[in-house]
Amino acid sequence: MTIHNFGPGPAVLPDVALKKTAEAILELDNTGLSLLEISHRSQEFEAIAAEAESLLHELLDVPAGYRTLFLGGGASTQFVVVPYNLLNTKAAYLETGAWAQKAIAEAKHFGEIEVVASSKDKNFTYIPKKYTVPKDADYFHITTNNTIFGSELHTDLDCPIPLVADTSSDILSRPMDVSKYALIYGGAQKNMGPAGVSFVIVREDVLGKVDRRIPTMLDYRTHVEHSSLYNTPPVASIFTVREVLRWVKAEGGVVEMQKRNRAKAKLLYDEVDRNPLFAGTVAKEDRSLMNACFVMSKGNEDKEAAFLEFVSARSIVGLKGHRSVGGFRASMYNALPLESVQELVDCMRLFEEDNK
Ligand SMILES: *Cc1c(COP(=O)(O)O)cnc(C)c1O
Repeated sequence: MTIHNFGPGPAVLPDVALKKTAEAILELDNTGLSLLEISHRSQEFEAIAAEAESLLHELLDVPAGYRTLFLGGGASTQFVVVPYNLLNTKAAYLETGAWAQKAIAEAKHFGEIEVVASSKDKNFTYIPKKYTVPKDADYFHITTNNTIFGSELHTDLDCPIPLVADTSSDILSRPMDVSKYALIYGGAQKNMGPAGVSFVIVREDVLGKVDRRIPTMLDYRTHVEHSSLYNTPPVASIFTVREVLRWVKAEGGVVEMQKRNRAKAKLLYDEVDRNPLFAGTVAKEDRSLMNACFVMSKGNEDKEAAFLEFVSARSIVGLKGHRSVGGFRASMYNALPLESVQELVDCMRLFEEDNK
């Protein structure tokens, strides 16, 4: 039976990537060895890691001068590693949600942090637009998609200083102009692969500019120099990332992903706006295509548990909203088919009928 997985992460992955991973765990490419048994220094794995990097660069049209690193520790570790490597005296941050707040808290250990704008006043239901980025800051940090609150920056900002972006939950969901960023990072487990590996796309010329000494493992230059093989990287997770990237390419790349993501989001948000039982939580122009947050409308709050039960009986999982928003969150990453969104929309209509 088909399960419709709206989970926020770890999340739905393309079937073909799961199948290829399952096969490789039993035996990798006629080596007689499992993917879990091979050396990270073997020719086979080096080719896998190299292909993952080159596919990502091809899909995102990454200009020369950038490298991609595949590292352990999750996006949360990058909250520390970014300022360790880039923050000399001061950095600017845009506070758009819980993940941005965590990034800010970590960066404060390294220097002065200027929060240029925040949407905290309205529980992060919009993206602040009017602010000035201080020219004397070492970088400006943004969260392109706010996984928990369901808001998203839909364009690549022009920024007078190096721009750093946590793109954990919208990487590969649309074409992006990588040249506008100094560093792009995230955990793979939302839209790029399984848990256990993070990606960092970094413009090499921004490295080596801080005065402090950086521990070897936390120094991006270590991993650039060794092509992510300084120590043992998450071998199996990187394999699955490569399979997901192959799938994105075969399906038509990020232009096609964006087209599908727009269609899925429109289908759902149109129903949220039409159906009197439900209400969206985020300013319309800032609604995320990846994570759609909505709640029961005023006067219908008591039906929340019943709706969750209703959808779970129809094989929809992962729809419960984050505790800081409540209600529902439909995560619609690249691998979630339109049919799953249609199923959810059908549920909303049927639930409306049942509650007339
Ligand atoms: C999930 C998420 C994180 C945290 O990722 P981990 O890999 O669990 O550390 C950080 N930022 C954003 C935007 C996320 O969605």
